[in-house]
Parts: sequence; structure tokens; C-alpha cells
Amino acid sequence: MGDGYNFKQLKERILALSTAQDWEVARKEWSLVGIHEADEPDTCLCGHFPIIEICEISNRTTGRRTEVGNQCVKRFLGLRSDLVFTAIKRIRKDINKSLNADAIVFFYERGLLNNWEYNFSQDTQSKRNLSPAQLKTRVAINEKVLAAIKRRGFQGVD
Ligand SMILES: [Zn+2]
Repeated sequence: MGDGYNFKQLKERILALSTAQDWEVARKEWSLVGIHEADEPDTCLCGHFPIIEICEISNRTTGRRTEVGNQCVKRFLGLRSDLVFTAIKRIRKDINKSLNADAIVFFYERGLLNNWEYNFSQDTQSKRNLSPAQLKTRVAINEKVLAAIKRRGFQGVD
């Protein structure tokens, strides 16, 4: 990549936390468990600085966790955290916009959205003309999401 993303370093560090020692197998052991936006720029496992969009990933075989930048998670681990961040950028720019399907599922799975909000989000996702009450609900959901990803290590609500 030549832009500060050191794949070799990322690979070594991820393999050290994995069971498989073959990269193509090892990377499949990892899941995206949480995302947040850093207040202070951070450094990715690959050495890239600065990263703001931080993904917490967990290895399902070793139980080990680590944090990696959004770009590396997408490009090297193949997890689509970028789609969730796309939704976040969209609602930050315009709080009246809807989350996308990836973000709706991501935040529902982590308990941030309840069943009712999950259904509401699906039903109204592609609607442009919401009633004032619906728009109020959408904005409230968006504000909740924006607040949640500001918390370091957000992985869900217990
Ligand atoms: Zn990286």
C-alpha cells in the first residue's frame, strides 16, 4: 500500500493472537465485536497513524481481542466494519437520515436497539417522508448510536 499500512507487521501481530498459523485461515477466526471513534488519534496494529475509526476484533478460537483501524479490518481481515462507519458518517452529517442495513443489524445485535427500534429502523429505512413522530424517533435512534460509538470499547449494552 505504501501509505503507512504495514501488512507484514499486522499479519505477525494478528497471527500471534490466532490459533492457525496460515494467514488465510487465521484471518477467518476473527469477528468484529465493537467499533468506536477515538477522541485522540491512535496507532493501528499495522503501524499506521493516525486512526480514528477503531474496530475491536475478537478471535473465536483463542478468545483474544485486539484493536485495529477500520481500513485494515476491511482490507486484510475482510470484515465490513466500513459499512457501519459509512452509516455513522451519514447520520452525523444529517441526523434526519437513516442508518443502513449493516448498521441496523450491528447495533441491534449488540443490544443498543431494542426489538421495536430494530423493526422501526427496517420499516422506515428507505422512507424519505416520515411523519413528525417517526422523524423524532429516527433522530433519537441516531443520537443514541452517535453517543454509543464515542464510548471506548463499545461492544453493546448489557
Ligand atoms: Zn492498520
